[in-house]
Amino acid sequence: MKGTVLYGPRDVRFEERPEPRIEKPTDAIIRISAACVCGSDLWPYRGIQKIAKPTPMGHEYCGIVEEVGSEVKSVKPGQFVIGSFFASDNICPHCHAGYQTSCQRREFVSTAQASILRVPLADGTLVATPDVPSEDLIPSLLAVSDVFGTGWFAAVAANVKPGATVVVVGDGAVGLLGGLSAKQMGAERIIAMSRHESRQRLASEFGATDIVTERGEGGVARIKELTGGLGADSVLECVGTQESMMQAILSTRPGGSIGYVGVPHGVELEGEKVFFAHVHLHGGPAPVRRFLPELIDLVWKRKVNPGRVFDLVLPLDQVAEGYRAMDERRAIKALLRP
Ligand SMILES: [Zn+2]
Repeated sequence: MKGTVLYGPRDVRFEERPEPRIEKPTDAIIRISAACVCGSDLWPYRGIQKIAKPTPMGHEYCGIVEEVGSEVKSVKPGQFVIGSFFASDNICPHCHAGYQTSCQRREFVSTAQASILRVPLADGTLVATPDVPSEDLIPSLLAVSDVFGTGWFAAVAANVKPGATVVVVGDGAVGLLGGLSAKQMGAERIIAMSRHESRQRLASEFGATDIVTERGEGGVARIKELTGGLGADSVLECVGTQESMMQAILSTRPGGSIGYVGVPHGVELEGEKVFFAHVHLHGGPAPVRRFLPELIDLVWKRKVNPGRVFDLVLPLDQVAEGYRAMDERRAIKALLRP
């Protein structure tokens, strides 16, 4: 079988790889229906996050179960399933608390930009759809695997409530879907911070009521202006830089909440600024597994269309072009079909 391997900065290859097999009785093997390139894949692609050796890529996936290990009970061959980027047993204390990405037995699923994938801890990790989906639902079901689940967690962590004023920092796929999530949770005003016209349009389609193009201090000043000097009730931080994090903290009203899901790169919080901001900070790697049943149901009933974030569809063997297009911001997110 063939899969995607990153060799170094901007060197992505699609090449022959060993075919995954059942290694433990709790594994499942799935045939990928669709995979995609994540914004976080761009950190190693750009060389900002170093890799020590050629590294298989991909952590967002959905597909058809081909084979299961002898202990797997909840999914069976022929079912269409979705999982998250961390395999989790869904039974340990951290899973029970709803933090499956901190599962005591978690394993990173990192070889999904391929035709076949081994998923560990299949019973805890995979959720089957009610039936094999029609083609048009596949992009939205794939989005549930990470970007929609992560945007949803950002909104949950930011304590979005009906009637709330919400700011979304970041106009990548996660930020856009964070806006969609806030809308689903009843936010009244959703302010998207974006400088890119195509992304602004999608943010508005997903429910944004205002667009702010300024960044940094100017961005904070504009949010204050739009909220009568108060700041927002809930802020979703979906970037992971020093500037975006401080922008989120300083845009939040005293007593408000920030959900941060951008993987931090060089973020250092100043104790004094955080202290006097009087805000709730909650975030981390989204426990997407917690939300899978609910989000699959929303997509299955066609109440939301998060698959709209995929504005480039490529055959899997052209994965390198998917990385290039996202790196150059020609695409928001690339969908890959084996
Ligand atoms: Zn667990």
